Amino acid sequence: MNCSAQEIYTLLHHYEHILVTAHVSPDGDALGSVLALWHWLKAEGKDAVMVIDDDIDDRYNFLDGLSAICRPDQVKTDASWLTVVLDATGLGRIGKTADLVCGKVLNLDHHISNEHFAQWEYFKPDYAATGEILTYLFDQWHITWSPAIADALYTAIATDCGFFKFNNTTGHTLRMAAVLVDNGAQPDVISDHLDARSLNKLRALSKVLDQLELFADGRISCLSYTPELLAVIGEHTGIYIDYARRIKGAEVAFTVKYIGPTETRVSLRSKGVDVNAIAASFGGGGHVRAAGCTLDKPLDEAKALIVKEIEKRL
Ligand code: 5GP
Ligand code: MN
Repeated sequence: MNCSAQEIYTLLHHYEHILVTAHVSPDGDALGSVLALWHWLKAEGKDAVMVIDDDIDDRYNFLDGLSAICRPDQVKTDASWLTVVLDATGLGRIGKTADLVCGKVLNLDHHISNEHFAQWEYFKPDYAATGEILTYLFDQWHITWSPAIADALYTAIATDCGFFKFNNTTGHTLRMAAVLVDNGAQPDVISDHLDARSLNKLRALSKVLDQLELFADGRISCLSYTPELLAVIGEHTGIYIDYARRIKGAEVAFTVKYIGPTETRVSLRSKGVDVNAIAASFGGGGHVRAAGCTLDKPLDEAKALIVKEIEKRL
């Protein structure tokens, strides 16, 4: 059931124990949204617990409260708990945290591929980020803002719209960002933290760029995270797809990441081609211009399959 802002406020106050979670491979939107809701629920006197079934990229360490995020095996729940699933399309996207879902579920999400799985939902596919949804709700509820909440939500919004450069940036996105800055978010400090790289990481960039390839007369760009490259750059690869996306003439950019001999993780970005449809054809999903999926194939085979699917849509 799609709820109003007021209904969600009432619902959250009805519960005492609340589990707050988001998708595996958490990005800035997932983490910022989880932290912001958790900070506010704690301030409202709730027993709120954050759970994410994955490692967290240490470039988000500056966010207040990050160390309180638990792994699923550290938490016990029962049917009296409400689970709030943020920035995820279905329970299949939250990993083992799904085992903790014993009671009802509220889903706040902006992915076009949402499975509409929850008892209650607030679904805004025209919003750039789940952080934009939460900022809107908090603004409607006239909450008492804190710098921690404002910074978390600014990080959520800014990272999901490429710092206001992607076409999902709307007037509403900018208005919500303004609400956050007016209430204590620090865009310069957040950007400094997210842009900072160790010298080793910066030097490793040359190895990443070496892996870039073009297909279809330069209309498709691809970046491969081979096991050798992952040994140098580490597992948190979220930032690198932007280099493939920025190649002149590339209409679709994608990355293939080695997970195992027959498992490859794929991320897709586009300037217009519906990559959600491509990801969906392999069991994944996301947005029209940013999506992902996992293939039970070796890296090179997965790469060839994805190129073929993209070529059909160019
Ligand atoms: P990324 O390429 O950064 O992993 O994901 C791009 C977008 O697609 C994100 O909004 C992410 O939540 C979504 N996404 C990535 N992988 C999947 C997937 O396997 N299933 C679904 N439903 N969404 C995905
Ligand atoms: Mn998001």
